[in-house]
Amino acid sequence: MPTNSPNSWEARADSHNLYGFTDLPTIHSRGAVVVTHGKGPYIYDTAGRSYLDANSGLWNMVAGFDHQGLIDAAKAQYDRFPGYHAFFGRISDQTVLLSEKLIEVSPFDSGKVFYTNSGSEANDTMVKALWFMFRHEGQPERRKILTRVNAYHGVTAVSASMTGKPYVGTFGLPLPGFIHLTCPHYWRFGAADETEEQFTARLARELEETILREGPETIAGFFAEPVMGAGGAIPPSKGYFQAVQPILKKYGIPFIADEVITGFGRTGEVWGCQTYDFQPDAIISSKNITAGFFPMGAIILGPELAQRIQDASEAVEEFPHGFTASGHPVGCAIALKAIDVILNEGLLDNVRALTPQFEAGMAHLAEKANIGEWRGKGLMGALEAVADKDTKRPFDSSLSVSERIANACTDQGLICRPLGQSIVLAPPFIITPAQMDEMFGKLEKAIDKVF
Ligand code: PLP
Repeated sequence: MPTNSPNSWEARADSHNLYGFTDLPTIHSRGAVVVTHGKGPYIYDTAGRSYLDANSGLWNMVAGFDHQGLIDAAKAQYDRFPGYHAFFGRISDQTVLLSEKLIEVSPFDSGKVFYTNSGSEANDTMVKALWFMFRHEGQPERRKILTRVNAYHGVTAVSASMTGKPYVGTFGLPLPGFIHLTCPHYWRFGAADETEEQFTARLARELEETILREGPETIAGFFAEPVMGAGGAIPPSKGYFQAVQPILKKYGIPFIADEVITGFGRTGEVWGCQTYDFQPDAIISSKNITAGFFPMGAIILGPELAQRIQDASEAVEEFPHGFTASGHPVGCAIALKAIDVILNEGLLDNVRALTPQFEAGMAHLAEKANIGEWRGKGLMGALEAVADKDTKRPFDSSLSVSERIANACTDQGLICRPLGQSIVLAPPFIITPAQMDEMFGKLEKAIDKVF
């Protein structure tokens, strides 16, 4: 167990770091795990303790922490040419190659890519691109953005406004014009007398009524994660995307799939939109795109949006937007390798092969008295703790049940993520069956210790 005695790494970390997204009572009582290195799916702290990381870092270290091919790709590009950007008439050869590859592996026949450093910036960029496009098309009032309660789209002012979590209110967000629809989580939000199909139909009606109430001519886009990640690994209710897609089409509202977590294999297909069989107008990617070895985000525009945003850009002779490190050649070289590793070195196959074991492990833990449901898709899932299994009554949040389970896991050398009342698991794609057993064994002990 980590310590926070004076002069320890843990105490020193606390002195000079403003922790984000971190439970401070946990930090004050235990200190952070100060990580020095990783091997496969394990990380190691300053005292040499190992932890199986059942969250792949932050969903992203899907090839593990020391993949030699990715390290070599980074080193080779640093040797060749360590930096540049993607504008003012210059672009790295690696960026050209990556954009070709991204369109090739995307669900689009053609399209264009724009690079950022993160998923938040990619969502922010997408919103700006839609605003830019609609202004050019003579619809400057199309500015409102539709997302969902419990969505997570990032932390910049715009992407946090799209995020449907209560804490955004602590920043005085969302900005005006960001509208949050009902979360498509049937188990939690379905009415007692409602079937899952009726729940989906209700959400589709809500979408159309919202569009008509706000005025279709005021709405610039609908953003959705195929499986909600930071909201608690929530797959959509049955038929959800098939129900919302025609409504969006009817009112000319672009449909953007935020695949920052689901992209590149997490749900068992390359894209979550393939798993759930819908066709977005653009895809937001980050995280797995470099298997976590470089900060990078990308918006992948399908042919229609690519053309419309290109036309708007031609009209003012540029798309006036970009980041210093947009399309960084080292990031692009790593992404090219990461995509190859995921698709051609058996990682996606491993996700598919191990999904039944993952589901069986989750289902076993969901039999416990204080676990209300397990949910998930592919190698992402959550166990939701409840005070009463029959009524689904949640624990009082002050009890920090999920935080206590996660801490009990840490004590045994397992990292998993507390999210609200849930424990979220998203192991790296390289995990073996034996490591999966280790993960569930340790988690079961932790749950038994807390309840
Ligand atoms: N979108 C989704 C679905 C995410 O899960 C995240 C991060 O977890 C983001 C966007 C934001 O990405 P970043 O943290 O790289 O800004």
